[in-house]
Amino acid sequence: MKILVINAGSSSLKYQLIDMNGEKLLAKGLCERIGLDGRLTHKPLNGKPTFEQDIPFPTHKEAIEAVMEKLVSKEYGVVEHMDEIGAVGHRVLHGGSKFTKSCLVDDACEAAIKECFPLGPLHNPANLMGIKACQAVMPGTPQVAVFDTSFGMDMAPKAYIYALPYEYYEKDSLRRYGFHGTSHRFVSARACEISGKPGTKVINCHLGNGSSVSASIDGKCVDTSMGLTPLAGVPMGTRSGDCDPALLQFIMNKYGFSVDEMLNLLNKKSGVLGISGVSSDFRDLDAAAAEGNERAQLALDKFAYEVAKYIGSYAAAMNGVDMITFTAGVGENSSSMRARICGYLGYLGVKLDDEANGKRGSELKISAADSKVPVYVIPTNEELMIARDTLALAK
Ligand code: AMP
Repeated sequence: MKILVINAGSSSLKYQLIDMNGEKLLAKGLCERIGLDGRLTHKPLNGKPTFEQDIPFPTHKEAIEAVMEKLVSKEYGVVEHMDEIGAVGHRVLHGGSKFTKSCLVDDACEAAIKECFPLGPLHNPANLMGIKACQAVMPGTPQVAVFDTSFGMDMAPKAYIYALPYEYYEKDSLRRYGFHGTSHRFVSARACEISGKPGTKVINCHLGNGSSVSASIDGKCVDTSMGLTPLAGVPMGTRSGDCDPALLQFIMNKYGFSVDEMLNLLNKKSGVLGISGVSSDFRDLDAAAAEGNERAQLALDKFAYEVAKYIGSYAAAMNGVDMITFTAGVGENSSSMRARICGYLGYLGVKLDDEANGKRGSELKISAADSKVPVYVIPTNEELMIARDTLALAK
């Protein structure tokens, strides 16, 4: 079966078409500036040329129509007819407590996605727009929703409950959900496959522009660093991660910030960008630190320190760890950041193989033969995970 994977944002829509017979990527692309003007970049992987052009996208529907037209076109296409697409898998940010697994989209599923708008105000409405657009363009084709939060649904109450009055959990569903769940699920499942041992305890570091760390046993989440929202946990490109909640009151009072302004500061102006004043991109920070920029160095040190602290706390939570994995933009590409983080883990018996850690590009064991805990780089593939779930449900 060929499966179209959709990741719809408020003004953008990323897609991949995957042939599940061999899990082969056929085409991928991006619709940008939806609702403003519109631009489509479509990359077929069968040797045909890339299409890149402005196309008016008043809504997500026109964007999906343009994607379909390209997927079947003579010049840029990868399938003969739209009917070859057996199902569509959608990334959905927030499934609340209702969705422990991916599900076929029906009225109840749509209603539940809507119910979670307050928990995912930026993403869930856009995700639903993507679903609606596909339903309009491909009526009759099964649609599947894959939730970023479903990985976190295996957490025990002691891991997900906040130490607040219990009524806020009961009435308002305020709890730790965790995000990057599809990535954590993909990588921890692969780690279990590599280990081959039942009950494998994995700590996965998804380090990118957004970053989170998860602990899992046999691929089931024990704990994860993001919380009710993706603002919690380790510092990120522009997000603060965990900080003292009373600090918000101090800044808001002193500088007269509204709640929205404060959240904007925490989401967009903090993290390694906030500390360094240089950039949210780790490559820029590496370059600035190499030239002696002390705040860029401090931002890198802070990031590594906090990730290492999460690894330590998760080793404690699971009473041990069988494998540590790195994934996403920074985790897959920055050997210096991996070395910095693993430098804190000597007490766990972690030893890196510097030569292996210097390599890039694919799945890699980067720990030394005598490391007590193996450390791997496992490239994440959220789209493939979404396609696998979609295939299982559409069948
Ligand atoms: P992601 O959010 O997973 O796409 O990751 C994006 C981030 O990965 C970028 O902001 C960069 O900071 C980081 N990144 C990508 N390549 C490298 C690299 N070679 N060295 C350090 N950081 C990198």
